[in-house]
Amino acid sequence: MPHSFSFYNTLSRKIDDFVPREEGKVSMYTCGPTVYHFAHIGNIRTYIMQDALIKALEYCGYDVKRVMNITDVGHLSSDADTGEDKMLAGAKREHKTVMEIADFYTKAFFKDFDAVGNKRPDVIEPATNCIPEFIHMVETLLEKGYAYVAGGNVYFDTSKLEDYYVFSSAIEKEELQVGVRDDVEEDTAKKNKTDFVLWFTKSKFEDQALKWDSPWGVGYPGWHIECSCISMKHLGEYIDIHCGGVDNIFPHHTNEIAQSESYLGHEWCKYWFHSNHLNDRAGKMSKSKGAVLTVSVLQEKGYDPLVYRFFCLQSHYRKPLEFSFDVLDNTVTAYNNLVKKVEGLIASDDALKAADKNLESFLNTVRSSADVDKAVLKEFEDKFADAISNDLNTSMAVTLLYDVFKADTNASTKLAIIDSFDKVLSLDLIGHALADDSADIDPELEAYIKDAIERRAAAKKAKDFATADAIRDELLTKGVEIKDTREGVKWTLV
Ligand code: AMP
Ligand code: ZN
Repeated sequence: MPHSFSFYNTLSRKIDDFVPREEGKVSMYTCGPTVYHFAHIGNIRTYIMQDALIKALEYCGYDVKRVMNITDVGHLSSDADTGEDKMLAGAKREHKTVMEIADFYTKAFFKDFDAVGNKRPDVIEPATNCIPEFIHMVETLLEKGYAYVAGGNVYFDTSKLEDYYVFSSAIEKEELQVGVRDDVEEDTAKKNKTDFVLWFTKSKFEDQALKWDSPWGVGYPGWHIECSCISMKHLGEYIDIHCGGVDNIFPHHTNEIAQSESYLGHEWCKYWFHSNHLNDRAGKMSKSKGAVLTVSVLQEKGYDPLVYRFFCLQSHYRKPLEFSFDVLDNTVTAYNNLVKKVEGLIASDDALKAADKNLESFLNTVRSSADVDKAVLKEFEDKFADAISNDLNTSMAVTLLYDVFKADTNASTKLAIIDSFDKVLSLDLIGHALADDSADIDPELEAYIKDAIERRAAAKKAKDFATADAIRDELLTKGVEIKDTREGVKWTLV
């Protein structure tokens, strides 16, 4: 039986206990990137938090299948179906073809996506792969009376729905309706202001680069249709969790639900997981703003991408997060301190010190070590599962990581716990400790520790306990904790 799991469901507007349709199995859809520009570190925050969610579910015993699209067609500058095609704008800007742009930025996206320790989705599908599926859904929506053709385009008729603003409270719905009525509406072909395009044959941009034949003429799909179709293609008529950033709630996810449930005739997805934005001091980061700060740029500036992951994991996914280099620099220090502590654990134990330093074989040594105290390991794993299953409390999970170093147990057990936590945190602290040239700890510090331990042993032998205690305290002020064990004096960096 998987561990119970709860998280904030945007649809119910509360923290729900998660109950998948099939016990132990999770089908998950995540909106992928629009590949007309680099993904900035804000976009990557969203993918890090989704990665944490997937890994947290897996840690808690669920089997997750995740599908993600690549928006390589159809996303106009404005979410309200107006403005220039973003892909085309990218192609013009860089004097490339739309497909070259898509290919280049898809590769760049996955380079950064991988670098921050994310696991790739099981299925990654570009929208341009699924044109027949889009056409089929649009045809069905027309047949069922949920869509109409006007001015050459096919629109979804939102007036056919009892509840279009599914994510909003009663008060918000009223505000949204007033807002929409007051909007300056450019598209006069629409029957209702909230209607959205399913298929374009006529848009303001006649030179649209990618076009396909359809029953309504040569054209291209609207943006929202791709996620409904790609999800159904790979996950069937129901999904358990749909993810995205908060900006996706309206109109994108609202429209996805409208068309999917009208097409299917039943509820489509019960749990909606939205993570909040990364802002810089100037406000929300946005791809369309031009110069973007990416994970690759951070790397060029000398920052380890996993430090950025650590930065994200320390705050809750539902809170906006402000980025600054000052905070990132502090995160570097904190991350390096953790790596040093792991190095200290390795150096404090002769068997670990002598073990093969290749990461895989080292982890095998740790995992199979008879020294690992299974009860302590389980106690920490249970606490960790409680934290991450409680609305994905990653900052609590990080706090638990710090607690490991202070725990009253041996180095092998501590490393086994850190290794276990890393299934979700993916910070690779052990890998970094092994790779660090100075992994065997600063020789000066090590010599000092050895000397201090000997001086303390001599003091104890001479029954000079005051001096022995003073040496212990002196070590502590230098971040070294010593313990008397049956196997002799053991020390760790704390
Ligand atoms: P896009 O490629 O612009 O469609 O965005 C990819 C993902 O990043 C979407 O799920 C967005 O909701 C999310 N996103 C966009 N801007 C930000 C931001 N500033 N912070 C965090 N996530 C964002
Ligand atoms: Zn989507």
